[in-house]
Amino acid sequence: MTAFALHDYDRVVFFTGAGVSAESGVPTYRGYGGIWAQYRPEDVASEAAFQRDPETVIAFHETRRRHVASCHPNPAHRQIAAWQRRHGGVTVVTQNTDGLHARAGSEDVIELHGSLWRMRCRQHGSMVDLSDGPYRQRQCPQCGQPMRPDITWFGDPVDRDAFEAAGRAVQQAALFVAIGTSAMVWPAAGFIEHALHAGATMVEVNTEATEASRCFAHCLRAPASQAIPAAFPLPEGAD
Ligand code: NAD
Repeated sequence: MTAFALHDYDRVVFFTGAGVSAESGVPTYRGYGGIWAQYRPEDVASEAAFQRDPETVIAFHETRRRHVASCHPNPAHRQIAAWQRRHGGVTVVTQNTDGLHARAGSEDVIELHGSLWRMRCRQHGSMVDLSDGPYRQRQCPQCGQPMRPDITWFGDPVDRDAFEAAGRAVQQAALFVAIGTSAMVWPAAGFIEHALHAGATMVEVNTEATEASRCFAHCLRAPASQAIPAAFPLPEGAD
């Protein structure tokens, strides 16, 4: 497998999707075993569903949160975190809501679609960190309305701050590595073409070809937990 010396690149973006966490046991959305084979997104992951039936929506996310809590970062998350400790120009931009990059030790993670580990009020935006508590019966301390998971659901506006921060990082990236994303969720998928047009060296790590594979000069067809440590080895003697 081609190996890349990260120190040769001033700025690096790892752009991750559900596939980077698949080997940790977190199901992807699409494909075999995907979540949307079992649930309809309009029933459990939309503001309309939350308004209609908050109990069902919260129960779905509580089940996911409990499952993710039992999963652990895999070698791909850990290798990226190890590189972030060694290279000041490495940014992680993730579509994932599972928090596994942070649990692997990545400190600077741009979460495009929010986090399973936070809740917010639709009106007041207050965040509650749920690291050690269940979702149920959370009300906004200001207005008393039920709080919703701080996740970008279908039909929600994007998190403008996160997208702007990611856009700046992508614009500057000399190396752009997309890992485990089907490139079907927009506008996040647009960062791939953005990086290409900004002149980055483009690497895709995915077990399958995707809608965006044509944008990549290097396509590594292997599971992320094997491909990332092999393609981005740490310097000799590093942990
Ligand atoms: P996706 O489910 O649409 O696609 C997953 C991609 O990962 C596929 O292209 C698949 O071929 C690839 N893949 C599967 N296993 C892999 C592995 N071991 N190594 C490398 N690649 C692998 O995911 P997406 O593109 O991230 O878009 C789905 C949306 O769903 C995102 O917005 C994300 O927020 C959300 N999501 C998040 C999680 C999570 O937090 N872990 C899980 C499911 C979905």
